[in-house]
Amino acid sequence: MARYTGSVCRLCRREGCKLFLKGEKCYGPNCTVGKRPTPPGEHGQARQRKMSEYGLQLREKQKAKRAYGVLENQFHRYFEEAERQKGITGENLLVLLERRLDNVVYRVGFGASRPMARQLVLHGHILVNGKKVDIPSYLVKAGDVISVKEKSAESEYFKGLREGTGKVVPSWLTIDAANLKATVDALPKREEIDLTIQENLIVELYSR
Ligand code: SF4
Repeated sequence: MARYTGSVCRLCRREGCKLFLKGEKCYGPNCTVGKRPTPPGEHGQARQRKMSEYGLQLREKQKAKRAYGVLENQFHRYFEEAERQKGITGENLLVLLERRLDNVVYRVGFGASRPMARQLVLHGHILVNGKKVDIPSYLVKAGDVISVKEKSAESEYFKGLREGTGKVVPSWLTIDAANLKATVDALPKREEIDLTIQENLIVELYSR
């Protein structure tokens, strides 16, 4: 399935919540989902009826997929990996998604949104332990150091980030903004992931 290239705000309206796909606009009064909370389309308002159990499970999966920018097949592979791991499958799934390099680049504020962070990784601006990694799905490990390539760090964009972005960085990550470096102190725990996703519904969907 091809990557979605339409309006990302439409995706938020479809899921009925903020997916934070647009950077600064998401935090201001112009956020589209804040102004127009109904699903997109001519019959958006009319479609707000009681959803079936299957519908709820499907929406929760779509929400997670869209928030992290993951395609269907890849998402299913994350689920299979989460099932193989010890512990609670739904939590394992969210932790795997959270460990993606593009997500970490977003979480530490190098990218204003996950789509933008994905571009930074794809364009080779990001290093992991001093080596270029241009794979957005790369899974970080505890102890990894994420930094910006020396040449890229000289750009106006990254220079601006050295003063800090004011963004609250999750407790499993440490940011050294002045040096454009972030450290993965530990793998995230479910309670450190601030997305309002009911991961148990995703597990139920795949267990049908
Ligand atoms: Fe979603 Fe951001 Fe658009 Fe708001 S501004 S609808 S959070 S992408």
